[in-house]
Amino acid sequence: MSDKQSMQFQTEVNQLLHLMIHSLYSNKEIFLRELISNASDACDKLRFEAIKNPDLWEGDTELNVRIEVNKEAKTLTLTDNGIGMSREEVINNIGTIAHSGTKSFLNQLTGDEAQDAALIGQFGVGFYSAFIVADHVTLTTRRAGAKSDEAVRWESQGNGEFTLESVTEVKRGTTITLHLKEGEEQFLEAWEIKSLVRRYSDHIQLPILMKGEKEDETLNQANALWARPRQDITDEQYKEFYKHVSHDYEEPLAWTHAKVEGKQEYTQLLYIPSHPPFDLYDREQRHGIKLYVRRVFIMEDAEKLLPHYLRFVRGVIDSADLPLNVSREILQQSKDIDAIRLGSTKKILSLLEDIAKDNSERYQQFWNSFGQVFKEGAAEEHTNRDKWSKLLRFCTTHLNDAKQSVSLSDYLSRMKPEQKAIYYVTADSWTAAKNSPHLEIFKRHGIEVLLLSDRVDEWVVSHLHEFEGKPLQSVAKGDLDLSALGIDTPKIETKDKGQLTPLIDAITEALGEKVKEVRISQRLTESPACLVMEEGAISGHLERLLKAAGQEVPQSKPILEINPDHRLITRLQLETNPAKVKEWSLLLFEQSLIAEGGVLEDPAGFVKRLNELMLQ
Ligand code: ADP
Repeated sequence: MSDKQSMQFQTEVNQLLHLMIHSLYSNKEIFLRELISNASDACDKLRFEAIKNPDLWEGDTELNVRIEVNKEAKTLTLTDNGIGMSREEVINNIGTIAHSGTKSFLNQLTGDEAQDAALIGQFGVGFYSAFIVADHVTLTTRRAGAKSDEAVRWESQGNGEFTLESVTEVKRGTTITLHLKEGEEQFLEAWEIKSLVRRYSDHIQLPILMKGEKEDETLNQANALWARPRQDITDEQYKEFYKHVSHDYEEPLAWTHAKVEGKQEYTQLLYIPSHPPFDLYDREQRHGIKLYVRRVFIMEDAEKLLPHYLRFVRGVIDSADLPLNVSREILQQSKDIDAIRLGSTKKILSLLEDIAKDNSERYQQFWNSFGQVFKEGAAEEHTNRDKWSKLLRFCTTHLNDAKQSVSLSDYLSRMKPEQKAIYYVTADSWTAAKNSPHLEIFKRHGIEVLLLSDRVDEWVVSHLHEFEGKPLQSVAKGDLDLSALGIDTPKIETKDKGQLTPLIDAITEALGEKVKEVRISQRLTESPACLVMEEGAISGHLERLLKAAGQEVPQSKPILEINPDHRLITRLQLETNPAKVKEWSLLLFEQSLIAEGGVLEDPAGFVKRLNELMLQ
C-alpha cells in the first residue's frame, strides 16, 4: 500500500525557486554542475562514514555518478552511490530551508529581478536549480545501511508542493530524474552533456560516467584537482573548482595552491572570494575549508585550520599525515593541525601581500568585502603580526572619502619629522569622525589622523599598540604633548593661565560629578569645548558600544577641555551672574557630549537651556 503524502514547500523555497528560474535562465546549464556537486559531496560523506562503519559500503566500493538520457521520455537521470538520504533527511534537506542565514538572505531580496539576480550569485543554488530546465523532478534515495524498503521517492513539479512515498530500492544512493521542459532538448544530447561535464565538473574526484550503447564512458579526469601539478591546471579549472567547494556562483578573487613538504606534508588550495557570503557574520556559517586526509574527505568547515579572522577563505587542505579517523576533538589538540594552520595562515597573508603590491584595485575589493573581519585579527594574530598589520587599511584625514585605503606604512611615510605617534579618532560614523572637534589642531597643522568608525576598530586599537615602533595614540585621550608634534603654541604660554582659573573653578563647580576635571585645551582651534578621556581609560565611543552590547562598563569620567580663544569662553569669563555661568557650563558640557556622539542624560533640560539662551 502506498503511503504517498503531499507536502508544501516552505515559503522561502518557493521564493528561491521563482527567483532562480527567472534570474539564472541565461546560465541554465549550471544545474548539471550543481547536481554533480551534490552527488560528489554525498560520496565524500559515505567514504568518511564508512571509515567507522565499513558495512555502509554494502559490497560496492566503486563510487561514481552515472548520467543517462532518454530521448523518448525526454528525461535526464543522474545516479550516485553515495550516502543517500533517509525519509527525514529528504524532508529536511529538500523542500525546506533549515539554515537561518539562508532565510535572512531571502529576506534581503527586493523583488527587482536584475538586482536579485546579482544577490543570488552569493548563494549556492544547489538542488533546486534542476527546476530551471525541468518541470518535473523525481528523486529516489536510500540511505547507506538502511533496509531496501526504507527508500523514498520525492517528486515535485516545482509549483509549491512535493510528494513523498516509500519505495523499495536495492542500491544505496540517490537517483534524480529531470523531465525536461519543452525547448530544453539539448540536454538530451551526449555531446552537450560531455562538454558541460568537462567545462564545469572536470575537477570532481570521482568518475562521472555516461551510459553508452556498449559501455560506459568516463567524462572527467576523475582525480582530485588539488593533487595535480599546478602547471596542468587551467585558470578555468581552478575557478570551477572554487565554485564547487565554496557553493559560490561568482568567481574567486585569488587563489594559492601549494604542496608543502617537510615535517608536515599537505596540499593546500585556498581561495579568497570576490564578495562576502551572505552569512559571513552568521555563527552557523557552513562553508569554509574542507579537510581531506590522503584524498578522503574528512570534514567541512574545520575551524581549526585557519584563524577565525580568515574565515572568509575557502578551499581544501589535504593532509598526508593525519589519521583517517581524525575527529573534531582530535583536531582541537593536534600539533599537526597547528602546523598546518600556521602554514596556511602565512600563505593567505602572502597572497594578500602580493595582491596589495600588484593590484591595488583588487586589494581594495578584498578590503571592502572582508576588511572588517580581517581586522578581528588584532586580538588573534600574534605570530604574523607584522604581516597582518601591514595589510590593514584605514580612512584618514588625508583622503576626502570614506574609502578605507590607507595603510599604516602610507601613514608613516607622511608623518611629520617630529611626530612620534600614529593618531586616530574613533566615532560612530566616518562623518562624525571626520568632523570631530578633537581633530582641530591636527587639521590645522596638516597632521594625518586615522578615522575609525567600524565597530571592530575599538578592538583593533585596544590590541594594536604600535606599528613599526610608533605607538597608536587617540586624539581624544590624555594630555596632548604638542611639542611631540612639532607644533609650538604660543597661545597658552602667552595667555595668563591664572586669569582663567576662576572660570575653570566655576565650571568645575557647575558640572560637579559629571566630569573629572576641567582644563585648558591644546586640541581645539574652532570649537569652544570638547570631552577627552584620561590616558588608559576607555573612550566614550567604546563605552557606548559595550553598553549597547549589554556589558558592564567601568565608570570613567571625562575631562572637559575648553578653548580659551573661543568667543564663547571669553564671554563666559565676563559673566558675573553665577546662575548663568552654571547654565552655560552645562550647555558646554552637553554640546561636547553630542559632538562626540554621546547620549544626553537630560535631553529636555538641554533643549530648555538652549531655548532660553536663544531668547536672550
Ligand atoms: P547544498 O548542497 O548547498 O547544501 P542543496 O539544495 O543542493 O544545497 O542540497 C541540500 C541538501 O540535500 C544537501 O546538503 C544534502 O544534504 C542533500 N542532498 C542533495 N543532493 C544529494 C545527493 N545526491 N545525495 C545525498 N544527499 C543529497
